[in-house]
Amino acid sequence: MILRHGIKLDQQKTASLRHKIKDLPAPEETEPPKRLPPRKGELNAAAIIAAAQGAGIVDEFDGVPLFQKLKRLRRLKPNMIVACCFDEDPCTTSAMATLRENTNAIISGLVLAAQACGAKENKIAVATRREAKIIHKINSQADLIFAGERYPARLLLKKKLFSSGKNAAYIGAQACAALLAAVDDGDLQTSAVVTVAGDGVEHWRNVRARIGTPLKDLLEFCGVSEKTTLVVTGSSITGKAVTDLNEPVSAATRCVIALKKAPKYREYPCIGCQRCAHACPRGIVPWKVHQELLSAEPDPLRLTNVQKCIRCSACSVACPSGIDLTGAVQKAAHLKKSGDFLDIT
Ligand code: SF4
Ligand code: SF4
Repeated sequence: MILRHGIKLDQQKTASLRHKIKDLPAPEETEPPKRLPPRKGELNAAAIIAAAQGAGIVDEFDGVPLFQKLKRLRRLKPNMIVACCFDEDPCTTSAMATLRENTNAIISGLVLAAQACGAKENKIAVATRREAKIIHKINSQADLIFAGERYPARLLLKKKLFSSGKNAAYIGAQACAALLAAVDDGDLQTSAVVTVAGDGVEHWRNVRARIGTPLKDLLEFCGVSEKTTLVVTGSSITGKAVTDLNEPVSAATRCVIALKKAPKYREYPCIGCQRCAHACPRGIVPWKVHQELLSAEPDPLRLTNVQKCIRCSACSVACPSGIDLTGAVQKAAHLKKSGDFLDIT
């Protein structure tokens, strides 16, 4: 289920970034992580891709196996590869924490990924100049670009690079570090760094948990309250409500949010503030779409660009009147595609 309007939280990254990443202790009967046999021969693109495959690395940003991504990128020939070390969510910090604690590993892993797909340039994308200062103190050679703090930062970064003539590819921070560990030491990807936050947990923190750990163990480790009524994974904006806390942590789990109260959805009339239009990265004017759908005879020609919607929910989150603009734009796109307007009018 995509949460309508997302969950509105203030920018609350400080609490989980204040402390170092904590390791969730593995159960006693857990076997030690396995390793690949030592790498032999030349370190070329094929060897790097084979290491990513052998280590079972999954890119946490999109859940795609890294070797598949690198193989595809090798065909597409991007001229730049970017490590996404920012978090597009008000309270997720797993990418930032991973970068702060593994800066050099991420830089080296990114160089390997660039070598594997033939990209000439590689950059580390961070959210802000403040974050860049912190990273430059750790490694002054880090080549950084800014993704910005506005959601959806990843898409806006893509647009920015595309308009400057860059054919860029994107890879997660954790995947970069895992690639270096696979190539250098034969390590399999066995863990993921997950931000645990929300008013339903006592300790907001980033936790390194074994892949497969039930979410309930992660929540207990962070002092989950008995009053928690909603747990969301993914993001507070477009995340999914968890129905079974035995659901395992995967390589793509970047955030778990526990809330005492599920958000209430109450709609008020549009006040014409234009925030939805400013928030939309695809040039859609959501309030116009919403109004058109409310009219007695909606005109499909007035539903401009609705098919370009990527369901990021930025418009719904920005709306002070709590209007389900994402739903309206989706409905309009569906109606336009299916031609059902003929029935409405
Ligand atoms: S209209 Fe679609 S693309 Fe634009 S902000 Fe809303 S959900 Fe995102
Ligand atoms: S953000 Fe909401 S209130 Fe403001 S113009 Fe858009 S629909 Fe209307």
